[in-house]
Amino acid sequence: MTDVRQFAKNLNDFLEYKKEEGFQTLEISPETLAALKPTPAQKPTASTEGSSTEGSVRYFNTPNKKYENIGLTPSSSQSSVCVTGKTLEEIAGQIRVCTACPLSGSRQNTVPGEGNPNHPDIMFVGEGPGADEDAQGRPFVGAAGQLLNKMIEAMGYNREEVFIANIVKCRPPGNRVPLPEEMNACVPYLKAQIALIRPKIIVALGKTAVQGLLQEEIAITKFRGTLCTYEGIDLMPTYHPAFLLRSPGRKGEAWADLKAVLAKLGKEPPAKK
Ligand code: URA
Repeated sequence: MTDVRQFAKNLNDFLEYKKEEGFQTLEISPETLAALKPTPAQKPTASTEGSSTEGSVRYFNTPNKKYENIGLTPSSSQSSVCVTGKTLEEIAGQIRVCTACPLSGSRQNTVPGEGNPNHPDIMFVGEGPGADEDAQGRPFVGAAGQLLNKMIEAMGYNREEVFIANIVKCRPPGNRVPLPEEMNACVPYLKAQIALIRPKIIVALGKTAVQGLLQEEIAITKFRGTLCTYEGIDLMPTYHPAFLLRSPGRKGEAWADLKAVLAKLGKEPPAKK
């Protein structure tokens, strides 16, 4: 694949994502555009190479739906990151000094994640830090975080009872969607965190969270609500709170997904006060 084709694919993925998020028009900054340019390390993807999709189409526990693999091979085989930390603190320490991808060059703080590390009922996984999270080194503390807090409370929990983390631990410039190689570089940290935390269920917030974990190209509007598994743990895909802020009409679908999560845990939402 030529650089131009890879660039076009990156741009197309970015625009598709924004369209799914509800954007009708977009101004793309030169910074974002530059970030979409392929790096020499960027591998051609199966779906745009015209290669057979056989073997790259996987089924989840919904056999009537199939999703094309986007060609991201399991992150452990592509990432230069080898997670040596044996505790969440050690992993956070490794993240703090990580330079595995260019996002490290523009970050103020790393955002490893926070919450209940002892097998919580729920672990929420978002996309990556925004400006507020980058400034504070904590996940979901901005506007989307306020909505996530409300979602957590509506389910009968508080922030300290769940764990909250992201696919990438450093802020992508201009809050753009992380590139596949950035996700691949960073995902081993999340994988190691999940292995230690062992939540009962993972709620993947938005397309990037699903793609980062399941390595599948999906449309979140279609895939949300589809209960799957990740490393033997139940995983529920739903909308990202930032998307819900822009598209409040979709909140009912997200609430249905969260109620399905509670049902899976044998719980019901608390009565409204
Ligand atoms: N959006 C995310 O995906 N993660 C955060 O931590 C904040 C906003």
